[in-house]
Amino acid sequence: MTDTTDLREKYRAERDKRLRADGNEQYIEPTGAFAHYLEDPYVEPTPRPPLNDEVTFAFIGGGFAGLVAGARLKQAGIDDVRIIEKGGDFGGTWYWNRYPGAMCDTASMVYMPLLEEVGHMPGHKYAFAPEILEHCRNIANTFDLYDNACLSTEVTQLEWDEATSRWIIRTNRGDEMRAKFVAVGTGPLHRPKLPGIKGIESFTGHSFHTSRWDYEYTGGNPAGALLDKLGDKRVGIIGTGATSVQCIPHLAKACGELKVFQRTPSSIDVRANHETDPDWFETLEPGWQQKWLLNFTTLQTGGFTDEDLVKDGWTDLAQRIRDQVVASGDFTPEGMAKAYHDSDDVKMNEIRARVDEIISDPATAEALKPWYRQLCKRPCFHDEYLDSYNNPNVHLVDTDGRGVERIDESGVWVNGTHHELDCIIYASGFEVGTSFARRSGFETIGRDGQTLSDKWVDGMMSLHGIHVHGFPNMFIVGPSQGANLISNVPHNLTERALTLAAIMRHATDNDIDHIEVTPEAEAAWVERLEKGGRTFGNDPDCTPGYYNNEGHQADPSATRNFLGFPEGPVAYFDYIAQWRSSGAFEGLTFA
Ligand code: NDP
Repeated sequence: MTDTTDLREKYRAERDKRLRADGNEQYIEPTGAFAHYLEDPYVEPTPRPPLNDEVTFAFIGGGFAGLVAGARLKQAGIDDVRIIEKGGDFGGTWYWNRYPGAMCDTASMVYMPLLEEVGHMPGHKYAFAPEILEHCRNIANTFDLYDNACLSTEVTQLEWDEATSRWIIRTNRGDEMRAKFVAVGTGPLHRPKLPGIKGIESFTGHSFHTSRWDYEYTGGNPAGALLDKLGDKRVGIIGTGATSVQCIPHLAKACGELKVFQRTPSSIDVRANHETDPDWFETLEPGWQQKWLLNFTTLQTGGFTDEDLVKDGWTDLAQRIRDQVVASGDFTPEGMAKAYHDSDDVKMNEIRARVDEIISDPATAEALKPWYRQLCKRPCFHDEYLDSYNNPNVHLVDTDGRGVERIDESGVWVNGTHHELDCIIYASGFEVGTSFARRSGFETIGRDGQTLSDKWVDGMMSLHGIHVHGFPNMFIVGPSQGANLISNVPHNLTERALTLAAIMRHATDNDIDHIEVTPEAEAAWVERLEKGGRTFGNDPDCTPGYYNNEGHQADPSATRNFLGFPEGPVAYFDYIAQWRSSGAFEGLTFA
């Protein structure tokens, strides 16, 4: 379809089909009868007595955020750092997500943090999950972060004790630790969710969420060995997002029968993964990773550079849009939107044509075509996913945007047809649009008993996305209200870690016990961001998903949660580098 009007109408019709009144509420939280979906399948917690001690700096979360912050704090001379992590090891996303075929979607050279510090050469342009998990362990070892860590430990509450100027950290292991400073880096996609399908609890076969892959049941391993216990199994997978796209090729090779229950197809562009050439890697000059990060972020956000170092689908996508805007010469908001839409039409037509090229059955090909703009959902890149549907044991069960109708004790119903299954795999994603307390799994209580949920009832309030008034000596390490760079989340974290380390160095050098943002600085920052209006996830024209609050007009609170620096990520990184190196730490009070 090349006519723009027809395309718009088709996009709108496909979106409307998928809009649901219950929005985010359609999903089930894995608690109560569903709590077992969250259990750690990898590590049995080691028994230990509850801790009642005190540390200088406690960090909640042992994923990339905790690792890079821990590393930078150690480099800044803060030795007494404790990372508290729910998983049985470091790694966060990469600890939990061990499904077959998992790999990073953003090039390893910019995605994997602290490569130079740890001395690691990524094995592939897009590293596979076991290598990334190993890299996380290497960061922890390099910076001695295991020494004081509390693993297999889930924080249940953070409470500020004004009398002693300490944070009290309570956990599911009965701990009541104290910390002078605390930081939270629990990740934006951290809490698995289940589809709210009628009868989901009645299924008597085997089932698990992709973020807790059950290799005991499937056979195989995270390194990609054949899932050899599935040869006689009828397996259903619900969901066709970025996770499914990576694991379906492995299921397709192994299952007796695989049924993929699709509500909305992902856009699948070329991956072209390849091994890293060690001779080329040797030629990189010290400081190369920072250069690559800036190069990628500049191109990815519409800027110009002399060369494209990463050269992949992300940078291609952004340069096409940028060049279309430049060629149109119309820099009004309407002109830029038109250029973006025109360039996207070309790209999406290519993506749909690729489906026709690869898939032999025309009806299956038709059902696998995405009818929305590429950035409405997480763009996917894969060279084996589509081809999986040519295997005779793989069946696409397209639900025409409506989702699975019902689950019963023996399988799944779609359009009045029952599909008998031995196993259901939920590739249904993670909570995004719910409250911070629900997503992080614990409540944070600041001065005068105020909870963070109350403080943020109308949306996140912060300075730089890091400091919150009423929550002294607490820092947030994530992308929001800062660069908000979605295409490469670790870049947000490495920058934030540098800022945190600079503040802590200053505090240590000056015997500072109390750090807090002023209410004026906090309000001014949020106002500046709101005026700029650069936010993620508020395009109601897009097909529903977590990128746009399931297609519902985002309320002001949700919009605030995803605000980014008005002039974009590169400008934010410049701004924050100057802020932290000036030594003035404007907006903060120190006592
Ligand atoms: P997503 O939220 O992207 O996908 C969930 C899937 O479940 C969607 O296809 C959704 O359909 C489907 N679904 C939900 N409810 C139903 C239902 N009732 N019936 C049928 N289908 C249903 O989760 P993922 O785990 O795939 O990915 C989450 C995010 O994690 C990605 O967007 C990405 O940011 C990140 N990720 C990154 C990777 C990487 O960098 N390597 C790899 C994997 C994930 P619908 O689209 O219609 O809502």
